[in-house]
Amino acid sequence: MKNLALHWKIIIGMTLGVVFGLLAITIGWDQFTSDWIKPFGTIFINLLKLIAVPLVFASLIKGVASLSDISKLSRIGSKTIALYLTSTVIAVTIGLLIVNTIQPGKYFSEEKRIEFKEKFATKTEAKMEAAAQVNDQGPLQFMVDIVPQNFLNAATDNSNMLQVIFFAILFGMAMIMLPDEKTVYVKGFFDGVNDVILQIVDMIMTMAPYGVFALLASLMVDFSDGDIRNVLELFSALGLYSLAVIIGLLTMIFVVYPIILRLFTKMNYFDFFKGILPAQMLAFSTSSSAATLPVTMERCEDHLGVSEEISSFVLPLGATINMDGTSLYQAVAAVFIAQAFGIDLDLTQQLTIVLTATLASIGAAAVPGAGLVMLVIVLGAVGMDPEGVALIFAVDRILDMLRTVVNVTGDATVATVIASSEGQLRPVSEKDLMS
Ligand code: ASP
Repeated sequence: MKNLALHWKIIIGMTLGVVFGLLAITIGWDQFTSDWIKPFGTIFINLLKLIAVPLVFASLIKGVASLSDISKLSRIGSKTIALYLTSTVIAVTIGLLIVNTIQPGKYFSEEKRIEFKEKFATKTEAKMEAAAQVNDQGPLQFMVDIVPQNFLNAATDNSNMLQVIFFAILFGMAMIMLPDEKTVYVKGFFDGVNDVILQIVDMIMTMAPYGVFALLASLMVDFSDGDIRNVLELFSALGLYSLAVIIGLLTMIFVVYPIILRLFTKMNYFDFFKGILPAQMLAFSTSSSAATLPVTMERCEDHLGVSEEISSFVLPLGATINMDGTSLYQAVAAVFIAQAFGIDLDLTQQLTIVLTATLASIGAAAVPGAGLVMLVIVLGAVGMDPEGVALIFAVDRILDMLRTVVNVTGDATVATVIASSEGQLRPVSEKDLMS
């Protein structure tokens, strides 16, 4: 076990977690799993979240302060945003093409529609309330939200990552403007803090195989409600819809990102995949790009050769605003729900979906289930009853795990492309890929 590459250890942890979960359901160990296994998964996620704000803050200050001039920052920033938007629009378009071809909603029976609507009515209401809060805000609220009133407040909540990013960039820019002798100690301090935090990430990652075991075992138990037949039944009802989402997500991972890397970098996709795999598996197990962020950063820097200057800026931003998997899923889900209600969406409405799903994925928080809240807004934009989300609730948790993998892979792809375009992509060695 000792010499095994990390991704193998995580794969073994995940597999054993699923096997244990199935066993627990079968022999009635649900309570035992919730009481004695689940807490280890929660501790693991907490550790990852704990490190996210200090990591982003220290590494971003280090990254920005090491830029030779500020114009470089705006160049990297514009390229990053342009690529993030492009990849999201591609994702939504692929989602729309697939869902219009497979038409999963046409095969969704009237009885199931009524049954699911009733069964998930309360859960749907909670999501609608959350969405209403977002919807009530003015058009420039997102800009106001980026600028914190108080840095310590911003740093106490991981969902305020954009505020932390904002302050770190401001801090780093001020350091560039000052003469070197004034900032030498501050620089040394943040360089040191950054190294310490990366060391902590390494330490947390040694726990990853056990963490994912606990997460997956408890997830299986929660998901099945004590009976494995529940899982199978839900999947058979929503099989075609899930298939459409999964085909779309696989297309992103195995077609779109390889093409992007091929066009803009010299990175071999197989190497990219090997390097980012542990982060993908954590994304799958935690369903949260924010919780995965420290690992995504570590993998990009140490195993894909992306410079710290680029990764510390591009990845935290990506975890917050770039969600290709989420936007693709929202497009498929919106059209699926329309089809199930017998509504034909015309071209204008489908284009509205491209626009709103792109914006909704930018606005979605990088935590489990956030995509579903924003789906309510997408449905509203094309004039559909937001209660339609009840139809897809049942399989959302699993699809969330898969779309989070795509969200994280998209961020890493863009970081690699930007690094390559700036001449800041170190060639990967065999050793990088083996650990
Ligand atoms: N769980 C996703 C993420 O963290 C967001 C979502 O689609 O719900 O990236």
